[in-house]
Amino acid sequence: MSTSEQLFAKAQQYIPGGVNSPVRAFKSVGGTPVFIKRAKGAYLYDEDGNQYIDYVGSWGPMIMGHANPQVLQAVRDRLDDGMSYGAPTAIETTMAERICQLMPNIEMIRMVSSGTEATMSAIRLARGYTGRDKIVKFEGCYHGHSDSLLVKAGSGALTYGEPSSPGVPAALAEHTITLTYNDIDNVRECFAKMGDQIACIIVEPVAGNMNCIPPVAGFHECLREVCDEHGALLIFDEVMTGFRVALGGAQALYNIKPDLTTLGKIIGGGMPVGAFGGRKEIMSKISPLGPVYQAGTLSGNPLAMAAGLALLDGISAPGFYDALTAKVDKLCAGLEAAAKDANIPFITQKVGGMFGIFFTDKPEVNGFADVMNCNIERFNQFFHAMLEEGVYFAPASYEAGFVSSVHTDEDLDNTIAAARRAFAKLA
Ligand code: PMP
Repeated sequence: MSTSEQLFAKAQQYIPGGVNSPVRAFKSVGGTPVFIKRAKGAYLYDEDGNQYIDYVGSWGPMIMGHANPQVLQAVRDRLDDGMSYGAPTAIETTMAERICQLMPNIEMIRMVSSGTEATMSAIRLARGYTGRDKIVKFEGCYHGHSDSLLVKAGSGALTYGEPSSPGVPAALAEHTITLTYNDIDNVRECFAKMGDQIACIIVEPVAGNMNCIPPVAGFHECLREVCDEHGALLIFDEVMTGFRVALGGAQALYNIKPDLTTLGKIIGGGMPVGAFGGRKEIMSKISPLGPVYQAGTLSGNPLAMAAGLALLDGISAPGFYDALTAKVDKLCAGLEAAAKDANIPFITQKVGGMFGIFFTDKPEVNGFADVMNCNIERFNQFFHAMLEEGVYFAPASYEAGFVSSVHTDEDLDNTIAAARRAFAKLA
């Protein structure tokens, strides 16, 4: 029995499924999850001494690699001053100002401790601001696990066949309208029918929780337009895409002005952090300035702020995103060429530092229905073949992949060579 197997057996006695977040359990790909002992740069090291080239990067935050020296130093520098005070600190304003500068559509921002809190709070704010109850989301998009948003969700909810979770009251779920991602007509029809009841649209500007699906031309423009016409707010959930697809996030890349933005992952440098922000007029409705309540004991935690700021410094270096995008391009081109040589129907999709792999004969994957038509069995075989080769991809076919700035050419070449051997096994 491997050490991971032993640890998993014991974990299952005390933790549901042995994990603190469902996708980690390898339930859809099968087998035993790899228990991680440590990580450095582009590599994970498991409890059995195996090394993996990592394309999960803690699901996004590790954009400059694991145990980044500047991030670690920033945390060490703060540590001796105490870990939490539950009172204001200067570093919170430094963080808020930095994010507002990097994302000018955010004029005011509040820090929270997870992406789930960020989207949940943004939804409450949109409802409070507009005085309306209904919200619009898209099938296969995941915005965390708060009740209103766990309706036809993506990520683990989709992977494990419970996109609309038991435990969400029907009376609440009925206020969540779920539309088809990238379907402009569907959005227009919905707003024509009930636009005056809708508080907000929440959208992943690049869908990353049903694999990786970029927006089609005109999709975001349509969302902005219907929101303006009907007095609804547009929320860009950039928990994943923020500082991942471009320095100013997807809103900079696609030149769209959302009313509210949610953030997480990268802005915490690997610490538990989320944030929501937007136009001052809307953010002024948040307590204690306004009546919409929102709070958090550990919100704006000084160690988390220090880690996040160090990472934001690093990714602000000129040329950072060009270099990151070039790595993703090289990886995706190499994987596609390897699949083609093995006669495996396979495509990749990518935006900035995120990518998706699809076992499909379609030239592109634009939405939920396309994703559901991909060959999951092949993905699962490929995942395990790559794991044996020392490459760690996301352990489910509905997740995006992430490259970091410290993945070297050699790492990418080794990954592509491993994929050639893995594809050959599938053929
Ligand atoms: N929104 C998006 C777009 C996400 O990808 C995620 C998590 N992957 C969340 C919200 C929820 O964030 P958290 O897991 O930190 O609660």
